Amino acid sequence: MLRGLNPSEVKMNLDRFGYNELPIAAKKNILKIVADVIKEPMFVLLLCCGFVYMLLGDYKEGIILISATLVIIFITFYQYQKTERALEALKNLSSPRALVYRLGIPTRIPGREVVQDDILILNEGDRVAADARIINSNNLYIDESLLTGESAAVKKHNKNELKNSEGIVYSGTLVVKGRGIAKVFATGVNTNFGKIGTSLNRITAPDTPLQSEMKSLIKNLFLIGVVISVCVVLAFYFSRGNIIKAILNGLSTSMAILPEEFPVVLTIFLAIGAWRLSKKNVLTRSPSAIETLGATTTLCVDKTGTITQNKMSIEMVYDGTNTIEYANFNANILNITPLLNTAILASHANSVDPMEKAIHEAGITFGLLSTNQYKVVKEYPISHDIKAMTHVFDKPNSDHYFIFTKGAPETIFDLCKLNQVEREKYTGILNTMAEGALRVIAVAEASFEKKNLPILQSGFDFQFKGLIAFEDPIRPEVPAAIKECLAAGIKVIIITGDFPTTAMAVAKKIGFSNSVGLITGEALDKLDDDALAKRISQISIFARVVPSQKLRIVQALKAKNEIVAMTGDGVNDAPALKAAHIGIAMGNRGTDVAREASSLVLLDDNFASIVAAMRLGRKIFDNLQKAMSYILAIHMPIIGLTLLPALFSNIPLLLMPLHIVFLELIIDPVCSIAFESEAEEKGIMDRPPRNPSEKFFGKNKLLISLIKGLLLLTMLLVVYLITLKEGHTEQETRAIVFTSLIIGNVFLILSSLSSTKSFIAVILERNYMALLLLVIPIIALFIILSIPAAQLAFGFKNPGLVHFSIILISSCSLLFILEFLKYYSNKQMKKTQYGSILDMHQ
Ligand code: ADP
Ligand code: MG
Repeated sequence: MLRGLNPSEVKMNLDRFGYNELPIAAKKNILKIVADVIKEPMFVLLLCCGFVYMLLGDYKEGIILISATLVIIFITFYQYQKTERALEALKNLSSPRALVYRLGIPTRIPGREVVQDDILILNEGDRVAADARIINSNNLYIDESLLTGESAAVKKHNKNELKNSEGIVYSGTLVVKGRGIAKVFATGVNTNFGKIGTSLNRITAPDTPLQSEMKSLIKNLFLIGVVISVCVVLAFYFSRGNIIKAILNGLSTSMAILPEEFPVVLTIFLAIGAWRLSKKNVLTRSPSAIETLGATTTLCVDKTGTITQNKMSIEMVYDGTNTIEYANFNANILNITPLLNTAILASHANSVDPMEKAIHEAGITFGLLSTNQYKVVKEYPISHDIKAMTHVFDKPNSDHYFIFTKGAPETIFDLCKLNQVEREKYTGILNTMAEGALRVIAVAEASFEKKNLPILQSGFDFQFKGLIAFEDPIRPEVPAAIKECLAAGIKVIIITGDFPTTAMAVAKKIGFSNSVGLITGEALDKLDDDALAKRISQISIFARVVPSQKLRIVQALKAKNEIVAMTGDGVNDAPALKAAHIGIAMGNRGTDVAREASSLVLLDDNFASIVAAMRLGRKIFDNLQKAMSYILAIHMPIIGLTLLPALFSNIPLLLMPLHIVFLELIIDPVCSIAFESEAEEKGIMDRPPRNPSEKFFGKNKLLISLIKGLLLLTMLLVVYLITLKEGHTEQETRAIVFTSLIIGNVFLILSSLSSTKSFIAVILERNYMALLLLVIPIIALFIILSIPAAQLAFGFKNPGLVHFSIILISSCSLLFILEFLKYYSNKQMKKTQYGSILDMHQ
């Protein structure tokens, strides 16, 4: 019996050899992050400004600017850290797992926790976690292309010597067929793979559509920024003739305009988004999935295990004449015994399959056979062509083999060569059972003279014994999640290997309509691609389907421009998972192959988690859009305030580098933290999926964002003109205009945090991070305005509280206008959205 290691042995080997992992290529250290931050154009500009001030002999100003750089480096550093930590945590969770014996029990552990002398259990679709010597194998084939480049799979078996590679499986290679048990002799850098090098770390994901759109947007804004800055320098020089001041002003303009926030915000949103998804039990393997989640229109899910719990129990049996409920088993023990015995003998001894487990449990409860008494001489495994599993037993002192089978009823009917009358009779019973959402299998027996066994199961003369019906309870969260999908315009398709009537009954139980369309795998094969594409919009259930047919389903849906998310677990699911826009691998049951083909991994295998992830995907996307739109908007007044003095020499300088730094210190954390943590929009799952062909920043969005920014600028100009009329000094004017900018900005943020809820609702939601970030700058500003030295540095003079009334009045009117615009556009939106959801359900 295989015992495996005990905890103290594990600890000893762990201490000796370390974790089974390769050193991550150049882990970002503090210095590197600082270097990255300093390389940003923003900091180069800041430093330049500081030095120009120093050159001018304005040391105080210079020192303040340079120390501001330190503060910004610190903030950026903090954000980077948070991002890195989030990603690191995910990496550990999503690393391949391994099945090992620990204290005699097969245990799933993260691949990095495998140690020397562990006993590995290798199954089809798994990646080998460490270098190991085969102890035992059954038709084991390994794909070693990762190490050798050779794509043909290699057969492995016990060789009892460490030199012979036929007896060794290597870390990182893939089990393509069969099973095996192997003992680990090298982990981490000591493995063959570790010695070759860490080439796998270098693979970088391609840009997501959003990332590429952002890149081109940033490039354009950058060009615009450079052009404007040069114009400012020239205009300033010609209007005032002071070249150094002109350059300084140009530098501060570029600092204000350059869109350095965009890439930072995008990275942070995707990284923290991945971390948020992981809290909903969904791991992100590719960041593009986060974008696509909110656009998904069709969700294809497995029935067994995803919609149901995959916890089977026997509900009733049919012995050929009577249907017997579980409650009456004791009273009918003579009738159920032969039936259950057949099922037991046709099952694996220590099975993990829920159906076989249920059979064994019933066997124990009613004191029936245990398989150990007899010797299995041959097993015919269940396959996608023949859905039946057959065991051949050798009974001593008999000239016959005894054969037991169980499987899909139709298959067993065929194997038993039933006549038409019997077939119809049993199918009637089968259908009645299946209508109760039960999974039904049939069992049969045969005997065979001791000579060469037939190649196929159909070579036996099976006698029909009866039907066994299992209940697989529906996950309680599923009906609500289905309802949510329906409201959100997401079509749910169930794909199952199970019997059509059962699938249909389960679908109805979870809230599918009565007229839902169903097609079987057999019928699917008869349709060509065009015919399938035509019919697919009417089909919601695919029954008696084999995994290889999933690919066709995905392709047909894609041909209809659907955005497809699909779940899967087996090796055969991989092509479909890869082809889907979002492949979702099952974390519990899923093979490594399925995980590697997927962009998301579902840790709890639960349908409701997928829906929760879609909801979160929509929210992340919304918040990102709002953040970007805000960044664009807030740059309008900044650009305006730097441009105006350059164009008109009678307007005093309103924004100096220090002011811009102060602004950046508000804008940066607000757009990455406040918007990121904002709650979801109203009715987020009551609107149709986002149209993926629509640009993230289309003309409309761009326009709205510009208008908001220009409104704020207009308000500032009005304030400026009023102060001018009241005859304030330059310093007083600057203080009033800057304060208006800060308060106007706070109101702009408050209004932009939600696109469906009023700013009051946003405040009441208590997004503390956001509120804190809004209050701090106002307090800081008032401190500056009350300390003479600070006033001097900022070029301010406190005009007295009374004069701030115009700021409040104008900011409040701005808020009112912004909120009105929001309210109005929501009303328009609701009209069109309601229409389109109705269209979708027709
Ligand atoms: P699902 O999509 O529900 O997981 P499967 O492809 O696993 O369906 O199984 C399809 C059918 O094959 C089942 O409905 C059952 O009739 C039969 N089957 C599955 N597992 C076994 C088994 N261990 N023994 C016999 N028959 C099985
Ligand atoms: Mg299954």
